[in-house]
Amino acid sequence: MANFEISVAHLYGNLMNTYGDYGNIIALTYYAKQIGVAVNYHLVSLGDDFDADSFDFALFGGGQDYEETIVAKDLKNKADQLRHYIENDGPLLAVCGGFQLLGHYMVMADGTRVDGIGVMDHYTINMHEPKLTTLNNKRLTGNIVIKNNDTDETYHGFENHQGRTFLGKNERALGTVISGNGNNGMDQTEGVIYRNVYGSYFHGPIFTRNGNLAKRVLATALSRKYPEVDWTEKLDQIETETF
Ligand code: GLN
Repeated sequence: MANFEISVAHLYGNLMNTYGDYGNIIALTYYAKQIGVAVNYHLVSLGDDFDADSFDFALFGGGQDYEETIVAKDLKNKADQLRHYIENDGPLLAVCGGFQLLGHYMVMADGTRVDGIGVMDHYTINMHEPKLTTLNNKRLTGNIVIKNNDTDETYHGFENHQGRTFLGKNERALGTVISGNGNNGMDQTEGVIYRNVYGSYFHGPIFTRNGNLAKRVLATALSRKYPEVDWTEKLDQIETETF
C-alpha cells in the first residue's frame, strides 16, 4: 500500500493530447509506484474549476490550432488559479499548444491571433511571420535532441509545430538545441523553465523518453508536498527507463 499520494490535474486532457501526451502521467505514475507513492488522476477540462491548492502536479498537453481556440476561451476562467499555482511553485509540464497558451498569445497558421493567459512571459508567432529569418513557411517537424544547461542532461524527443515561440525575460530554456529546431528554429532554445514549470515542444511523450526529467519533476512535486523525505535519493535508487 502506498504511504504517500499526489494529485495530478490533466488540463483539457480530452482535447489537448497530441501524440499521447497523457503518457507523461503514466511515466510519473510508473516511478511513483516504485517508491510507494499513489497518483490520483483528475481530468480538468472545459467548464471545470482548477483549484490550485488541490494539485501537486499538472499536465497541459498539446493540440492543434483548432483545439487551442476552444481551450483558450475557457482557460481565461482558470487564469487566476493557474497563476497562483505557478507562483506558488506548483510543478507543471506544458507541451506544445499548452506551452503556447500559458504565454501572452499565439498566432495560428492562418494568421489569427489567439490570446494566451499571460501567466508566463513568452509569445508565439506563426510560420509566415516576415520577422523570421530562417525556415519561413515551414512546420518544424522531426526528431530533436537538446541539452539542459543546468543539469547537463540530454533530452530526446519529436517536435511538430508551426508556431514559433520566443521566451520572455524571466524564462530560461529547458535546453539548448543540439539537433532539430526547438522553440523557433532561430535562437537554439527549446522549451522553457520558469519556477517549477517545464514547457516543451517535445511529444513522444517527453517523460517516457526522458526518465531523468520525469524523476526530477516527480521529486520536485513530492518535495513540495512532503519536505521531510529525501525524494531525490529515493528516486536515484530505481532504474531510469527509456520507453
Ligand atoms: N497548433 C500549434 C502549432 O502547430 C501546436 C501544435 C501541437 O501542439 N502539436 O504550433
